[in-house]
Amino acid sequence: MPISRLSDLADSACAPRLVIKVGSALLVGPQGARRAWLSGLVAEIAEARARGQQVIVVSSGAIALGAATLGLEKGGRGSLADAQAAAAVGQIALSGLWAELLGSHGLTAAQILLTLEDLEDRRRYLNVTATLGRLLDAGAVPVINENDSVATQEIRFGDNDRLAARVAQAAQASAVVLLSDIDGLYDRHPKLPGAQMIPVVDGVTAEIHAMASVESNSGMGSGGMVSKLQAAEIAGLAGICLVIGNGQHDRPLARILQEGIGTLFCPPTGGSRHAGARKAWLGGRLRLKGVLLVDAGAAAALLRGSSLLAKGMTGVEGVFARGDPVAITDPDGRVIAHGLSEYDAAECAALSGLHSSEQADVLGYSPRSSVVHRDQMVLKVRSL
Ligand code: GLU
Repeated sequence: MPISRLSDLADSACAPRLVIKVGSALLVGPQGARRAWLSGLVAEIAEARARGQQVIVVSSGAIALGAATLGLEKGGRGSLADAQAAAAVGQIALSGLWAELLGSHGLTAAQILLTLEDLEDRRRYLNVTATLGRLLDAGAVPVINENDSVATQEIRFGDNDRLAARVAQAAQASAVVLLSDIDGLYDRHPKLPGAQMIPVVDGVTAEIHAMASVESNSGMGSGGMVSKLQAAEIAGLAGICLVIGNGQHDRPLARILQEGIGTLFCPPTGGSRHAGARKAWLGGRLRLKGVLLVDAGAAAALLRGSSLLAKGMTGVEGVFARGDPVAITDPDGRVIAHGLSEYDAAECAALSGLHSSEQADVLGYSPRSSVVHRDQMVLKVRSL
């Protein structure tokens, strides 16, 4: 059953599997962990479970909690070393809290710490899928965070919004609920006069991106609206809905799902489950090995569903092997697709702009039908 309004998310037939992401500012206050608030949320999670819904939690807060314990300035976010140390200390308390509060409702918590690479590598991603499935079937509530203590600056999510969307893809969840410190997406900065909250968004368009403010309200987490919209796009690729709602209330899930206060992002039609799980994984990848630059004609052809031919390529960036994931950019530098390259970077450079009749001489063997086949490609935009 498709999800078309927020109340559908409280229905186990429409939404059998939910990912609930909790931001740092909700979990940690000036006095440390906000235990009473979390108890209320955990009671709501227990209610969802009683309705027959499976729940995966993505919980921030390790860095903020650990920074307080270690006495680190800027909430532990002054440097990567501080964040890594703070997370190592805070994660113990964070998991302990979830385990204790879920346990008080007879629910078993299961901690999983993930790095970006765990979800970018196809084999490890499938492993995560299997582990989550087994845990949920066994009745546990997975509580997931980024493994901040080992993630490096360049290769990390940095925010749990996109992590939650990737986890939802891996778990084939029905929806992701991002509990934040804002009611939803506004058509302009929420502090500006006349700002209106948008209840439902069908696909994240350029117009929707323009509404996002880069400011995060609390300064404690690292999310902000930009990463939330990226999360909505990642979820959407797999046909998964995403909700932005305000967690700063007692019983926040009831406020969002029963009172309907929040923004529901529905997956774009056509870009949904039809794309297949593998394409969704590919489209949601945050790190790619290289870039194939294409001319306007090729860009238009890709959007019509064609494969990328060498003739339409104008340049290559990065070092990659055959089979590696690459971005495809149009003449304006816009990423229009992700795909797996049929050739390595040097071969792509040598083939750029060549007709198929000219390619065999350059390669020394008969060329493949395309540089990126349409079956190994997922579009990132719907129009040029
Ligand atoms: N993983 C970080 C933590 O546990 C939070 C990242 C975020 O702010 O979204 O503190």
